[in-house]
Amino acid sequence: MTKPRHRPGAAAASVLAAIALAAGCGGSGGEAAAPVGADGFDGDRAFADLRAQVALGPRPSGSAANRRLARMLARRLRRAGALDVLIQRPVANVVGSVPGRDPGWVVLGAHYDTKDLPGFVGANDGASGVAVVLELVRSLPRPLPGPSLAVALFDGEEARGDREFDEDGLRGSRQYVDYAAAGRLGAPPLAAIGAMVLLDMVGDCDLAIPREAGSDPGLYELLATADPELFDGAVAAIADDHVPFREAGIPAVDVIDFEFGPGPPPGALWHTRGDDLEAVCPASLDAVGEAVLEALPRLGSD
Ligand SMILES: [Zn+2]
Repeated sequence: MTKPRHRPGAAAASVLAAIALAAGCGGSGGEAAAPVGADGFDGDRAFADLRAQVALGPRPSGSAANRRLARMLARRLRRAGALDVLIQRPVANVVGSVPGRDPGWVVLGAHYDTKDLPGFVGANDGASGVAVVLELVRSLPRPLPGPSLAVALFDGEEARGDREFDEDGLRGSRQYVDYAAAGRLGAPPLAAIGAMVLLDMVGDCDLAIPREAGSDPGLYELLATADPELFDGAVAAIADDHVPFREAGIPAVDVIDFEFGPGPPPGALWHTRGDDLEAVCPASLDAVGEAVLEALPRLGSD
């Protein structure tokens, strides 16, 4: 099975012009602080965040590398300008917020843990979504023209060891929804969350984002309006961190390319050592980031 290669460019350029962000990308990488909201989404800077995660090696939930990563993500979120950054317990979701002009919240999520497989570094399955979230926080205007943004970098998405995903996966996102219901530990009140956007496996160099069957059609359409070439087609339901939100009655969209490498979904590279820096591209992070940047102010509005 082959897919048309996505060509980032025109849509992204018009987005930037439309929201009147200043041109120019620092491309500074590392942990350098960006002028908040002063420039557009920088795919190279996002890729530096991806690289920094992969450099820690395998990062399964509960490992020393996973704990180091949680602290690193909290630091980067703060430097990106997120407020109220904290690490939840017992599942170590890293959360923060960006204030908006309108009432209500949109949750922007990605998982940072990697599947516990020998040598598996999850450049795409894990690091890519987190990298786009961090760069979005840097590049969004302040205050947001829309609802506030609740950032949720989930731990515990992957099932541990040989356990079944249905029983052991999604631990971080389930905890987050429980805390939202209880108004605890950095999660906004459940009733105030108008939408949830999940980014997962968005680094594939051959990127295409079909509508996942469990995703809200209206939210997907807003993203497709921002980049109709990238957001096209349909795919069967995928069990991912948006599910606990959907089960709680929150419209949610899983922005995922679950066709990683050759073959039918999930693709031959999924959960293999081939999910490394060679398999991911800055242009893909940039395309997804630009689309979400454009759509975000409208995602949680009535
Ligand atoms: Zn995975």
